[in-house]
Amino acid sequence: MNSPFHITTFPDYETLSRKAAEYVYRKISQSIQQSFVLGLPTGSTPVGMYDQLIQMMVANTMLTTFNLDEYYPIKHDDPQSYHYFMTKHFWQPYNHLTKKQFNNSQFNIPDGESANPEKECQRYEELLKKHGQIDLMILGIGTNGHIGFNEPGSQPTSRTRVVTLSEETIKANSRFFSSEADVPKRAITMGLGSILDSKEILVLASGESKRPILQKLQSLSAPTPDIPASWLMNHSKVTFYIDSSARPRQSFRASVCDENLSLIP
Ligand code: PGA
Repeated sequence: MNSPFHITTFPDYETLSRKAAEYVYRKISQSIQQSFVLGLPTGSTPVGMYDQLIQMMVANTMLTTFNLDEYYPIKHDDPQSYHYFMTKHFWQPYNHLTKKQFNNSQFNIPDGESANPEKECQRYEELLKKHGQIDLMILGIGTNGHIGFNEPGSQPTSRTRVVTLSEETIKANSRFFSSEADVPKRAITMGLGSILDSKEILVLASGESKRPILQKLQSLSAPTPDIPASWLMNHSKVTFYIDSSARPRQSFRASVCDENLSLIP
């Protein structure tokens, strides 16, 4: 059941971001498909990667992207929405770069404004299916092990759905809001099953706050519903890029990592 995660540790956040962007850009440019399908995260971790990726892109890079999740309900123009985050960090700079008219790239994100969230989940899942498979899914990881907003207890077969955020997630994300009470209590998230369908997965983790969850992951020999990210063990092509402050103090178990656990400048 176990499949090894390939884990590479970088000395700092800047290097992690640059190497992650290079990894993503390499995959896009090696692809022979007309439009590479990317799964995308939000949060503080991928900001540096987006900045770097935009600088590497060329005008005719064609992409189809699917964001992992969105708060619900939330307005697109709310500065805390993931719609807003993506506009600022990726869609707008990308459209500027490609001058849009030369490009049929398509950016998808669950609609936090939908009047019927269940229907919106169905629409999103069908759209995902229509594109076949996500070529490369990029993930962050929550301090409770969530991926997307798949909180502890999520089933590995789950699909895009409306979820209630855990207290730990609300607390962690309150740093972006005026208070904990302002954090939306629900979200629309791609399911674990939708994520695990991807051809390849790259997980980014930065900072000391991620060390305990990575340590927990390393101690597992099989997936557990308590740690949603542990279901990634069932996928054959998962790479972790972490920075040295997130690195667990003991090296990862042989079954969960490769011997590449090294600091790459
Ligand atoms: P972060 O969030 O990148 O802001 O730490 C990651 C997550 O909660 O999935």
